Amino acid sequence: MVKEEQGKKLITILIPAYNEEEVLDQLINRLENLKDANTRYNFEFLFVNDGSEDHTLQMLKEYNAASQYIRYIDLSRNFGKEIAMLAGFDYSRGDAVVIIDADLQQPPELISEMIECWESGYEDVYAVREKREGEGLLKKWTSKLYYTLLQRMSSENVYPFAGDFRLLDRKCIEALQELRESERYTKGMYGWIGFKKKELTYIADDRAAGVAKWSWLQLFKLAINGITSYSTVPLRVWSYIGFIISFLAFFYLTYEIGKTIIFGTNVEGYPTLIASILFLGGLQLISLGIIGEYLGRVFIETKGRPPYFVREKSVETINLKE
Ligand code: UDP
Ligand code: MG
Repeated sequence: MVKEEQGKKLITILIPAYNEEEVLDQLINRLENLKDANTRYNFEFLFVNDGSEDHTLQMLKEYNAASQYIRYIDLSRNFGKEIAMLAGFDYSRGDAVVIIDADLQQPPELISEMIECWESGYEDVYAVREKREGEGLLKKWTSKLYYTLLQRMSSENVYPFAGDFRLLDRKCIEALQELRESERYTKGMYGWIGFKKKELTYIADDRAAGVAKWSWLQLFKLAINGITSYSTVPLRVWSYIGFIISFLAFFYLTYEIGKTIIFGTNVEGYPTLIASILFLGGLQLISLGIIGEYLGRVFIETKGRPPYFVREKSVETINLKE
């Protein structure tokens, strides 16, 4: 049994993977290079198979059999990237954990630089992408607008263009493990937990292979999650709007009464009536929907279900720590 060299710090590379058979070889190749370039550290590559329907798991098993520092956990179904990352936090053993996507849109080579920053005392070294090649303008603009809005609405710092590609000290991982809500928005959590942050920049590449797994609907859901978990503004804004509308309605009413007293009555005013009823009805529906959104979150969290289940994990024959 080969024991990893002792006295070296362990770095976990955490990779959530959902149907990534096409990029896996290339990814592991790039990560091996990284490992070879940083011999001062021990590495483990921890894959979280998030209910893939292709050969991802099978490939991971083969890799694990060949090299024991390539570990995997297999979730019982597809839980989504946010939950897959939480599972990864739970099973990672490194003194530092680097989260990276399987699709090589983020250069693994940057990890060396992250490690340097970590050694100089930073606890959360995150990478900000400079520009994203091969991404539609619409997606770019909507994400920019969304983050600006989110920042305005929440009291905590949101680090807009920072994704999940980052190195986290064990302290941050332990903090994130305590945030066990199942409706997760991890990007907002990094800011919330605090710790010493450092920003690095990189240029995002196209997906190495395969297709992006986020549909617009999923992105929309994530966006709503982001807003409703980090801000109560949508809940409160309705009282302001209601106040303004009642205020205006009051003046309008006084004006109508005055008009009737001076000029007498007629049956006009039908359009204004319908318009105001529809307008107010619409506002009420929106505000009900927003309350429902928060209530739904409360409902899901009060069930207190575990966020994920593991079907199996790689057998640990070597103890990387100690
Ligand atoms: N992913 C996952 N579960 C999912 C969807 C995605 O674990 O339900 C993983 C995926 O394998 C990849 C990362 O999350 O490693 C980012 O996914 P993707 O590249 O599809 O999204 P994008 O780059 O558009 O954020
Ligand atoms: Mg991607």
